[in-house]
Order: sequence, then C-alpha cells, then structure tokens
Amino acid sequence: MYCPFCRNPDSRVVDSRLADDGSTIKRRRQCPECGRRFSTVETASLSVIKRSGVGEPFSRSKIINGVRKACQGRPVTDDDLAMLAQEVEETIRASGAAEMAANEVGLAILGPLQKLDQVAYLRFASVYQDFESLADFESAIAQLRSQIPVGQASASDGQEPVRTGGKAAEPSSSVQDR
Ligand SMILES: [Zn+2]
Repeated sequence: MYCPFCRNPDSRVVDSRLADDGSTIKRRRQCPECGRRFSTVETASLSVIKRSGVGEPFSRSKIINGVRKACQGRPVTDDDLAMLAQEVEETIRASGAAEMAANEVGLAILGPLQKLDQVAYLRFASVYQDFESLADFESAIAQLRSQIPVGQASASDGQEPVRTGGKAAEPSSSVQDR
C-alpha cells in the first residue's frame, strides 16, 4: 500500500503483532523512501448476504442504525449501541463464517439487545421477526419473563435500597410486591 506521508507505492513490514483474540493482525511498516513509519490492521473480510442474494461488507454502523430506531426514547446511550455492535461482530466472527445471511445477523442482535433494553428488544423483534398479532408479543414477553432472574428484576428499575450507616437495609424481597 501507499505510504500515507509521501505516497511512495512501497513499504516494508518491520513488525507484525496478532491481536489477543486472534482476529486481527497489526503491522508496523516503514517507507523506504521517506523513512517514516505507519501501521496497518488486517482483518478477515466478513460479508452479509441480503435477502436479494447480494453480499455487502459487515458494518457496525449498519447494526447501530438498525438498533437505534428500536431504542428511541429509551435510556440507551451511543456507547451502549457501540458495545452492542461490537458484541454482535465478535459473535459473528467467532462462528468462523466468512459470510452470514442478514437474518442470522438479526438473530445475533437479539441476544445482546435483550440484555440492554427489553422494550427496545420487543420493538426490534416485532419488526425483525414479523410479529403479526398480540399473541406474538405475549409469547415474546412470557419468554422474557421466564428468563429474568428474580434478583435482576428488582435491580433493573433503579430502586436498589440505599444503605445508610449503621441502619440495616430492607430485605430486597419486600420491594418486589408493588
Ligand atoms: Zn514515505
């Protein structure tokens, strides 16, 4: 590749380093013309095959844009979305496949989105899985309910008991009956 400083079309690799998870290789290069150094990162290409059969490169920003709509009005930050997209990419890359159908990418989104925000999850799942009736929502909600460990359910609505010095905190079981 071209030297980013002087556009010389040749460069020499002076160091190669594999990322901890083995998914990328970082190479340190030196330009023989101007002597300056720069880095390149090598990643296996990953294609998403759309319903039409057309493939396009996997893109985290596409994941983020797709999920962001479902997160409107929800307490989800840009950082949350970036982390979700990263998790989705890691899941897909861990499968070892060089190509993946778009609907499988959607499936890979559902898991992390469910952990992030359950309302956004239901919105996303209703579009993505073509919910047609209330029964579809009911079964998705029933599934969500059956997955939530009791301890997490009370912590997620932000009403954790405040511990004050010396005073014993209320037992958490009393918080659950509203
Ligand atoms: Zn150069």
